[in-house]
Amino acid sequence: MAILVLGGAGYIGSHTVYELIDAGRDVVVADNLLTGFKQAVHPKARFYQLDIRDKGALDTLFQAEHIEGVIHFAASSQVGESMSDPLKYYDNNLYGTMVLLKSMVEHGVDKIVFSSTAATYGEPERVPILESDKTVPTNCYGNTKLSMEQMMGWVSKAHGLRYVALRYFNAAGAHISGAIGEAHNPETHLIPIILQVPNGQRDHVGIYGDDYPTPDGTCIRDYIHVTDLAQAHILALDYLIKGGENNVFNLGNGVGFSVKEVIDVARSVTGHPIPAEVSPRRAGDPAQLIASSAKAVEVLGWQPKYNDLSTIISTAWKWHQAHPNGYGEG
Ligand code: UDP
Repeated sequence: MAILVLGGAGYIGSHTVYELIDAGRDVVVADNLLTGFKQAVHPKARFYQLDIRDKGALDTLFQAEHIEGVIHFAASSQVGESMSDPLKYYDNNLYGTMVLLKSMVEHGVDKIVFSSTAATYGEPERVPILESDKTVPTNCYGNTKLSMEQMMGWVSKAHGLRYVALRYFNAAGAHISGAIGEAHNPETHLIPIILQVPNGQRDHVGIYGDDYPTPDGTCIRDYIHVTDLAQAHILALDYLIKGGENNVFNLGNGVGFSVKEVIDVARSVTGHPIPAEVSPRRAGDPAQLIASSAKAVEVLGWQPKYNDLSTIISTAWKWHQAHPNGYGEG
């Protein structure tokens, strides 16, 4: 039986496909290639170009393939864009997931692991954040992901489907081989933007606000290597295959770095001065997000391997130096 990876041409999806194939699993990838890249799809995966909002295309896939479980990454994921274009997020993330679940229920596919986010918590009451803490998203992206979790809960009660929601903190880094990495167009994420400076693609990095209630005034995030995230998806799917109940897990390293600290680590990894300038805050950004991943460690047996920020940035640097334009030319 095969594992279906929706959004398997995207950043975290493509890394998960590489780990699944390395583990000897049979993998089907579906992606609409709006933000993903065909070149990121592992050559040993069977690829379908489809949009999850297209129920007919999903039905055809479920009829053609013998799918044991689904890993669902197919969603829009930019905080800033979700604030300026919320309806895009309801369409792609919520409506897309609704169509997917309908098709899964009709075809008797009853296990799903999917990308949720630390943005479901909003401004945390304390750090590190536990899965049982209050969820009050401060941006539309986080709101759609929380609603996806809730949708799974109700569908589970009615139809017996089981799910694991993985609440990622800040995914970063690239495959250790350098074969695949992070490529967004336009790029909005901090580490790839920082690395555009030593790569000669921008002359400085903008720091979005230095008046947050944190020690140096810049936002604090918990950066986790994309391959460690990928491994957690495989563990979560195996947990469901073994009969595990619906569950939600945080995935982070449990250590926070401010924007200024991340820039400093990138300076020492690249040996470049990386000039930085403070610019206005970005809408929807909480001051501080740090995970407690104790539950994933205990229940799933997850052990992040790349838990040091300079190693994480080194893998990203290797990828961006070799692929300054991502999967495009040059
Ligand atoms: N950030 C920044 N400058 C940039 C991009 C991001 O200061 O050019 C900050 C952003 O405000 C946030 C942190 O870096 O506090 C991480 O942002 P990113 O977009 O990478 O991830 P997010 O936390 O939104 O998932």
